[in-house]
Amino acid sequence: MKILKKTKNIILDTLFPVSCLNCGQPDVWFCESCLNRIKPLSFQVCPKCEKILTESGKTCQWCKKDYPLKALVVATKYKEENVSKLVHLYKYNFITDLRIPLGEMMLRALTKNDLPLPDIIVPVPLHPRRLRWRGFNQSQLLGDFIAKNLTPGFEIPVVSDLLFRKRYTPPQMKTKDYAGRRENLADAFTVTDTEAHRIRNKRILLVDDIATTGSTLIECAKALKQKGAKEIFGAVIARQEFND
Ligand SMILES: [Zn+2]
Ligand SMILES: [Zn+2]
Repeated sequence: MKILKKTKNIILDTLFPVSCLNCGQPDVWFCESCLNRIKPLSFQVCPKCEKILTESGKTCQWCKKDYPLKALVVATKYKEENVSKLVHLYKYNFITDLRIPLGEMMLRALTKNDLPLPDIIVPVPLHPRRLRWRGFNQSQLLGDFIAKNLTPGFEIPVVSDLLFRKRYTPPQMKTKDYAGRRENLADAFTVTDTEAHRIRNKRILLVDDIATTGSTLIECAKALKQKGAKEIFGAVIARQEFND
């Protein structure tokens, strides 16, 4: 079996040689030196008002009340060279190997920002219809990568069979206005009642690829909190502005 797999890979590599999408270095989709040139954010802001600088992206004292996210760590800028391109190729050209450089960006931001270690990682779920179309959940792969690499020698459990999208919502990028996005997602997520004990009193790291208004993360965090989660932090690759 192993030999067969190896042969298959050799054939694939010969037919479709992989090389760095930016500089062309062979054998990787995005090489280490191109990855090192992507600038991490030099500061983090409150995820709600996006105005107040806070340590590790914590929610500021004026926004804290009734806001379900304790902090949001953003790895880099969406407009940073190569970032939107990588995200697009990952999500729409299905190059799942790009979870590695993208996950690495998130990992570096999380390490630098030093939030308390999560008990579990929960990736933002896709609606089953969307999951069938894409074949993978982009946030799940990023969550798995972070779970394996955040603390060397210890893998954080990833819980991905508990939070669900109740209804199919059009992709956020197609919903133009701010209020529309909010409405679009209100109560879109739920936690299975019988499984709620698995998140009770847990510190959760919620992982998504890109945040725009933050509504997806907020709605997920709300659903998790309603079922007894202790505190919820979020991590994303970047935030996308409306006019991007
Ligand atoms: Zn390169
Ligand atoms: Zn704030």
